[in-house]
Amino acid sequence: MSESAANAPTNFLQKIISEDLAAGKYPKIITRFPPEPNGYLHIGHAKSICLNFGLAEQFNGDCHLRFDDTNPEKESQEYIDAIKRDIHWLGFSWAGEVRYSSSYFDKLYAYALHLIEQGDAYVCHLSADEAREYRGTLKQPGKNSPYRERSVAENLALFEQMRGGDFAEGECVLRAKIDMAAPNINLRDPIIYRIRKVAHHQTGEQWCIYPTYDFTHGQSDAEEHVTHSICTLEFEDHRPLYEWFLAHLPVPAQPRQYEFSRLNVNYTVTSKRKLKQLVDEGHVAGWDDPRMPTISGLRRRGYTPVSLRNFCERTGVTRKEGVVDVSMLEHAIREDLDTHAPRAMCVLNPLKVVLENYPEDQVQALEVPRHPQREALGKRTIYMSRELYIDRADFAEVAPPKWKRWSPGAAVRLRGAYVITCREIIRDSAGHIVELRGSYDPDTLGKNPEGYKAKGVIHWVSASESVPAEVRQYDRLFVDAAPDASRDDGKSFLDLINPDSLQVLSEARAERSLAAAKPGEHFQFEREGYFTVDADSYADSLAETPQASSAPAAAGEPRLIFNRTVSLRDSWGKTQ
Ligand code: ATP
Ligand code: MG
Repeated sequence: MSESAANAPTNFLQKIISEDLAAGKYPKIITRFPPEPNGYLHIGHAKSICLNFGLAEQFNGDCHLRFDDTNPEKESQEYIDAIKRDIHWLGFSWAGEVRYSSSYFDKLYAYALHLIEQGDAYVCHLSADEAREYRGTLKQPGKNSPYRERSVAENLALFEQMRGGDFAEGECVLRAKIDMAAPNINLRDPIIYRIRKVAHHQTGEQWCIYPTYDFTHGQSDAEEHVTHSICTLEFEDHRPLYEWFLAHLPVPAQPRQYEFSRLNVNYTVTSKRKLKQLVDEGHVAGWDDPRMPTISGLRRRGYTPVSLRNFCERTGVTRKEGVVDVSMLEHAIREDLDTHAPRAMCVLNPLKVVLENYPEDQVQALEVPRHPQREALGKRTIYMSRELYIDRADFAEVAPPKWKRWSPGAAVRLRGAYVITCREIIRDSAGHIVELRGSYDPDTLGKNPEGYKAKGVIHWVSASESVPAEVRQYDRLFVDAAPDASRDDGKSFLDLINPDSLQVLSEARAERSLAAAKPGEHFQFEREGYFTVDADSYADSLAETPQASSAPAAAGEPRLIFNRTVSLRDSWGKTQ
């Protein structure tokens, strides 16, 4: 970012950093993004990424990627790989190698010994239930553990035994010796090491004791000389503990923790635990299901890095809790795709039209712009022919008032081509409309018809010069604005899943130019919305296809699948 941006702080963190740099507190700032690899990143993480990497960029500092990997049973390499991919895709690069809290396990163990030797930590044999009782409540101070006054030598020996695997899980823990009467419960002799007899994705079988988040985070920040350790508000109450450890240990630096309010988006859950449940229980097809608020889901849905960065920027950085309207997210992608996405025509629910006065074997190529404003995107060819498809929604047997589409006797313009008039409805034996017959006016290409008016403009494709496509239309995953909230009716977020969040249109017809579209490419389908070619398109094997798919295409048949990223209607943009 430019220097003028750096000189004009706009949020409280930019202000703090500007002041710190002006005061010469640090030669350069170092921030970090510290995900736990226990799930895929979601839109809330995108905000934290934009903030941490963005500040480093703005102030010519560094941002580290550090996996906060102290819960081996919930973590995995799959998540590590996905997180790295998502950060890169958003357009950020971490300084130096990827870091892991687990690479400080030796250091953290030495810090724990240091506390014990100082008389600031002890091995406690209270059971979990007992410990809860001793901890007290917000109103009542806790009680000292009966193991609190063990000697340094005894604690050293016991901790060594913990490390050696001599105790069972849960039999004992190492606790910092702070103050059982502290008003802040985090300071009531918090656990700093627990026994977990599980292998770790980075350190293997090396450890059977693992440090807690609180004992790990600040010291890891210090080891990396992080200057501004930015986290969400729920960690505010942990800050005194963060500072206590830094004050009681011989750490190489004194990072400072700052909190901001987390991003919440309505109609969405942003908790990895809940997202994992959606995946594990099959409510969605996977972490990257286009209905998921994960970065990978948003990407597959058709969101671009720019749109997510703009969205995160606009939500601001404050210490006030709030909920952002999901339409603001949709506005961000609409805005980006409006500028960049080539236009095309795709008929989602086709109804055949035969133009009786159009020569049977004639196909006329028509050049139309790919983008109405961006000439540089060039032209594409659409094909006029005797048989066409229009969308069923664009025909009404009895035209409602102000109907601007097709109906018996009415004339409409085919986008980019001629004006056509409806003459006849063809039905099957059950009475369903299966075809429309009409005529075209050869004198209306690029000019108004003589003596009559076209009611409106509709999109269409040539029957012979179009390709079959599957279109997946998505709606909100939840029917309730606050699926996460605790409720009186006892319903959980799983009870609030929208049963109609996915609609598969398997009979769609796309204009021929779309046959060459590649997974990830974006288009505006005229009059419909923005669509992105799904990763499943042209997949050789359908084995991994989400349940979302319709019947598999016959072997070898190309399958063009589009995800609707967002419709054209912009409720948020309008209200702004
Ligand atoms: P979750 O509750 O979804 O599991 P988490 O905080 O436990 O999230 P971490 O992997 O620990 O997940 O998060 C990495 C970083 O992202 C943390 O610094 C955290 O504060 C930040 N973060 C997580 N959720 C949000 C959010 N909704 N808004 C902003 N930042 C977030
Ligand atoms: Mg966390």
